[in-house]
Amino acid sequence: MYEAIIIGGGPAGLAATMYCARKGMDVQMITGQLGGKASLSLNLPDMSEYHVLKAREQVQVFRGQVEYLSHLWRHGHVSQIEEDADGFSVTVTAPSGTGRRAGDDATTHSDGEILRAERLIIATGTTPRLLGVPGEREFMGKGLGSSAISYSHLLRERRVAVIGDSDRAIEAAVECAMQADQVTLVLEPHAEYSHGHLQLVERQDTIEVLNGYRAVRFDGDGFARRMDICRGDADCAEDRPHRQIEADAFFIEREPVANSGMVEHLVHRTTRGAIQIDATNVTSNPRIFAAGDVTTVGVEQILVALGEGARAALSAYRQLTLQQL
Ligand SMILES: Cc1cc2nc3c(=O)[nH]c(=O)nc-3n(C[C@H](O)[C@H](O)[C@H](O)COP(=O)(O)OP(=O)(O)OC[C@H]3O[C@@H](n4cnc5c(N)ncnc54)[C@H](O)[C@@H]3O)c2cc1C
Repeated sequence: MYEAIIIGGGPAGLAATMYCARKGMDVQMITGQLGGKASLSLNLPDMSEYHVLKAREQVQVFRGQVEYLSHLWRHGHVSQIEEDADGFSVTVTAPSGTGRRAGDDATTHSDGEILRAERLIIATGTTPRLLGVPGEREFMGKGLGSSAISYSHLLRERRVAVIGDSDRAIEAAVECAMQADQVTLVLEPHAEYSHGHLQLVERQDTIEVLNGYRAVRFDGDGFARRMDICRGDADCAEDRPHRQIEADAFFIEREPVANSGMVEHLVHRTTRGAIQIDATNVTSNPRIFAAGDVTTVGVEQILVALGEGARAALSAYRQLTLQQL
């Protein structure tokens, strides 16, 4: 039985793991991908690396330590969690090529391996909802991104296009308009937004709102330069979109999916799946902690996720220590 299992190895999970290890806790981190979304970035034409707080170096410090202390973690996907009086049973499906560790405190199960823990720290982040149109993957990171709040300060005197299906896109457009010369906000068909939010952008001279359009392709040279859009759900010929938007930066600002399904029966979540936490990163279940983008903190920044991970670990440690007094 581990003292804690940390699920997710992005900035929040890496920091949580190292803070638990530093306190001498017997822990195991399980993650699909080491580093999480910290490896994603956006480059814009004529942009200096020094203007961006990518926080890669800070993540690398924790990642390097976790990689070196290989007994602390494993690659795997957590598909199911059950709670009982002593703690939790965590079902882990190992990706092909990785096996069970020697001396593991784990039992096998037809659906995967089962690990046991007294406490859980959920740091599984979110999954972006992409558009699935030609050019999107090719230009992702090159003039096309999905975290406007990370880059809005770089948009001075640039033209920007934001596309999305909720208030998140409207808020991103407002933020970009604080710096950019001109912002085109494309609200997709079936978008759900508050009318108060829409009125806010409609009052701004620098924001053009195109309501009920969808992207059909991105095009450019080394960077995304154009987004073709069509009106409504109607087809429009590939070479004759209803409109072509030219910009220096494009942001896909759809609400991402919180990777919290495995604890839906154990903790309170918002309607969007974000795990509700208090100021010490405890969820509605006192033995489950959460940190980073998967929670209601809602900031989506690497340094915040690192800090949240550290705090979740210290809260779990404190709880376990007090229990032993
Ligand atoms: C395009 C883009 C650019 C960005 N640029 C910046 C930037 O410049 N600066 C900045 O501060 N922030 C930036 N961000 C935001 C930043 O990346 C996130 O806020 C941060 O990575 C969140 O960390 P996290 O640990 O909460 O989640 P994540 O980084 O999403 O990590 C979650 C981890 O959990 C794992 N996981 C998920 N489900 C399971 C499961 N069931 N079982 C096991 N493992 C699981 C995943 O494999 C992943 O490793 C950017 C985001 C995007 C999308």
